[in-house]
Amino acid sequence: MRIAVFDTHPYDERALSEANAAGEHVLEFFEERLHDKTVELAKGFDAVCPFVNCRLTAGVLQRLAQLGVRLVVLRASGFNGIDIAAAEREGIAVARVPAYSPEAVAEHAFALLLTLIRKTHRAYNRVREQNFSLDSLEGFTLHGKTFGALGAGRIGQCAMRIAKGFGCKIIAYDPYQNPQIAADVGFEYVSLERLLQEADVISLHLPLTEQTYHVIDAAALAQTRRGVIIVNTSRGGLIDATALIDALKTGQVGGVGLDVYEMEEGVFFHDLSDRPLQDDTLARLMIFPNALITSHQGFLTREALRAIAETTLGNASSFARG
Ligand code: NAD
Repeated sequence: MRIAVFDTHPYDERALSEANAAGEHVLEFFEERLHDKTVELAKGFDAVCPFVNCRLTAGVLQRLAQLGVRLVVLRASGFNGIDIAAAEREGIAVARVPAYSPEAVAEHAFALLLTLIRKTHRAYNRVREQNFSLDSLEGFTLHGKTFGALGAGRIGQCAMRIAKGFGCKIIAYDPYQNPQIAADVGFEYVSLERLLQEADVISLHLPLTEQTYHVIDAAALAQTRRGVIIVNTSRGGLIDATALIDALKTGQVGGVGLDVYEMEEGVFFHDLSDRPLQDDTLARLMIFPNALITSHQGFLTREALRAIAETTLGNASSFARG
């Protein structure tokens, strides 16, 4: 298939070209994201291959269909940027990569968590300035704490297995329960309310949908343990950032690790060091030393990139074979 690959970085080109070593598909790489202003680039292609922060609205999908595109091979798992009903109406098939390396994202959640609770980000900055003071670097031990996973799917389960290794008590909230998984991993399903009330650490591993938008809002934050640590490697829209800022101010939230952010489109994946941040809530969050923000990089490991590329092109091959 002729595939237009959007929002590419050198590492995407490398991984996809390696996965296409036999030359089964014709790939063309575009740095641009796929949205209403860039859709014309898809002319002459059978398929488009966007990434997480694409905006495939009904209008974009209609134009893609007019241009002859028959397939969207998303090289990500979260498809919240695609109007699936509109794609169906336009006769465009949508494929995604449901699981490539859940371990990569779960490990990143723990990188954020351990950094936050041991304040290694602050120590790192100090030591580089030859300041070896331990002032306000007191952290807490994870062993014996309650780890609450919001979402017990692929990544949530990996995160819980890691938490188990640290000697945490594990609880999870997921509306779709599987007692066998709970027994295998060793966690207890609880209500959302109980999870909020009992967890010392809340780690988000659920998709962003209309139902889950702002699942962590002011009311939810009011129910948590004082000083709770929140880690979000799922989607920014799951947390009401304004309520989070208020809770950081009062100490209700003791620390937050964010790999994803509500307004990340147009912010992350780019070097904006010479420009002010457009989104003022992100800038306001960064003021807190106990807010640790990374640039949506949970997926960014060698192993995950290889798996994403192979599944994405495999999806295109399956479509081509009918
Ligand atoms: P998954 O589909 O395997 O699991 C999601 C789980 O969330 C399911 O068990 C589902 O039942 C549950 N869920 C649905 N609604 C819920 C609700 N209201 N409350 C609690 N749980 C609910 O998905 P996954 O592979 O574990 O991925 C989780 C999320 O991680 C994805 O949605 C994606 O947005 C995000 N992600 C981020 C990165 C990154 O680079 N940071 C990479 C991959 C995926």
